[in-house]
Amino acid sequence: MSELDIRDLKVSIEGKQILNGVNLNVKQGEVHAIMGPNGTGKSTLAYTLMGHPSYIVDSGKVTFKGKDLLDMPVDERSRLGLFLAFQYPVSIPGVTVANFLRTAVNARRKAMNPEDKGIAIPEFRKLLMEKMAVLKMDSSFAGRYLNEGFSGGEKKRAEVLQMAVLQPEIAILDETDSGLDIDALRIVSEGVNLLRSQNIGVLLITHYQRMLNYVKPDVVHIMMGGAIVESGGADLALHLEEQGYDWVREKYENGVPSIS
Ligand code: ADP
Ligand code: MG
Repeated sequence: MSELDIRDLKVSIEGKQILNGVNLNVKQGEVHAIMGPNGTGKSTLAYTLMGHPSYIVDSGKVTFKGKDLLDMPVDERSRLGLFLAFQYPVSIPGVTVANFLRTAVNARRKAMNPEDKGIAIPEFRKLLMEKMAVLKMDSSFAGRYLNEGFSGGEKKRAEVLQMAVLQPEIAILDETDSGLDIDALRIVSEGVNLLRSQNIGVLLITHYQRMLNYVKPDVVHIMMGGAIVESGGADLALHLEEQGYDWVREKYENGVPSIS
């Protein structure tokens, strides 16, 4: 079983400590939401897991499928089945959505079997069209350059499409809901629910509760001052919606590492 396990993770950027001991365990098939005010380190956690070079791990341990994630190069993390949807996706002019995805699929297949000759184009086309239909994307989308001139909603859909095609085992979505209107939010959520039905584990990082109306989390965590300070069920998100973050701030003024 695929499992992402984070133990007492401390991370700094430009000499400033941002994560103060994060503990978290996400199993395949589970949806965990991480909520928290801006600047508490949610994106820092996402980037660290994906191996962004600016984020320095000071201490702690992260294992993915039993292997030491922090020792792995970025491409290996992704080939092993970890996926990160960025809060601010970059555009790749000159590379179409279809080409980008086919390259990514082939890289994963080759990682699993070095003899693999790559997915046949008709087979890939069928897979892509199937997933695009689920996400209610026009087929012309496949021929556009990745993220070039995409609206906010299109970028998010492109991210969910990548996940649907790549079928990672654990996906980290960093504010995939931000900037979406209600229709786009619903479609993106349907995409996430589809992935969930395929037994993927999801770490859903979000500032707002609204996406959680569509994607019901198994566990909700609150991050404050670089640590997870509260964990609970879906009702915790509703409580935040009603009460805001002030009560959490008061309780954990300087951020207290969670014990789990
Ligand atoms: P969140 O996603 O919860 O809003 P972030 O992880 O983006 O929080 O940021 C946490 C803290 O790290 C903030 O205080 C932010 O200013 C700081 N930070 C993030 N990225 C950088 C960076 N590249 N250089 C310096 N400080 C950064
Ligand atoms: Mg963020």
